[in-house]
Amino acid sequence: MATPLTVRVVEHQAQIFRRFWRGSATFYVLNPLLFLAAIGFGLGGLVQESTGNVGGVPYDAFVAPGLLAASAMLGAGAESLWPVMAGTKWVRTFHAMVATPVRPADVYAGVVAWTTVRSAVGASYDTFGTERYVLTTENRTLRDVASCAPYEFIEILVNGQTYGGGGIFNQYATVAIDNLWAGYVAVHEFGHHFAGLADEYYTSDVAYLPPANKTEPWEPNVTALLDPANLKWKDLVAAGTPVPTPWDKEEFDRFERDIQQQRGELRAAGKPEAEMDELFRKEREKEDAMLGSQKYAGKVGAFEGANYEAKGYYRPEVDCIMFTRHKTFCAVCRRAIERVIGMYAG
Ligand SMILES: [Zn+2]
Repeated sequence: MATPLTVRVVEHQAQIFRRFWRGSATFYVLNPLLFLAAIGFGLGGLVQESTGNVGGVPYDAFVAPGLLAASAMLGAGAESLWPVMAGTKWVRTFHAMVATPVRPADVYAGVVAWTTVRSAVGASYDTFGTERYVLTTENRTLRDVASCAPYEFIEILVNGQTYGGGGIFNQYATVAIDNLWAGYVAVHEFGHHFAGLADEYYTSDVAYLPPANKTEPWEPNVTALLDPANLKWKDLVAAGTPVPTPWDKEEFDRFERDIQQQRGELRAAGKPEAEMDELFRKEREKEDAMLGSQKYAGKVGAFEGANYEAKGYYRPEVDCIMFTRHKTFCAVCRRAIERVIGMYAG
């Protein structure tokens, strides 16, 4: 069967893109950065210095979604404006095309198809400026693709070797599937997506600013412990376990600071992913040994350090897959997952 003529038009666009993708990449990376600088200088005065908030909303939360949306809109807009002008008026490539068996309808369909390919699912690393945070902002495309089959939860497998992933409650989870840690990342991120679990870690670099006032988080597996007598998972705390629960936080923090520094250096130097894998392997070995030997290991209590904060937030067990690259969930996370399963399974 002959190739549909529309595909020929798409091929034409792809051939051009092969030559110019560097310029395009620079534009879509540089442009949001320039916006960020302009907004930083222009609107910086509105940001309260003490809290980093704009009208009660963290600066990142205020600016980043708008930037992402604007960047996606600009990308799609640019792709369907300038090349069309070039085709019809400036370079008249469309005139050349319709001088062949390609019909105007093929040109139209081809250009639309190419624009869709360029902005299709559109997942990228560096969401909110965090190197390992992979999300997509093309929600409509994502839902269109997903609707081909009945679904309740979505796991996006990203063809990438670089460690990364992301998960949003009730929306979707992502994971870079060619990475050694894909299994762990998939389970951890799916915990966010499926059961609304919070991150229990606090030593990694994250995209979120600390809140000005600590209120009780809604997530089932972290607490601000504002009322220790009414800890939200108190029915799982064994008699004789103190709340807050002591653990060797200082030693852990010292070790983690060192790991995070090495991690930053490896990424900055553009080292092969195998070196990052080796660092993470050492990290997990030491964490398992260190946390596993704590007096209250495996017991439910309230251990300080969670929800991206070293102080003021508490997690249920000394270790959990939402805290380190540990293999299992803590009892509180397990129960939260079981509750969602129960809700769907009736
Ligand atoms: Zn947990």
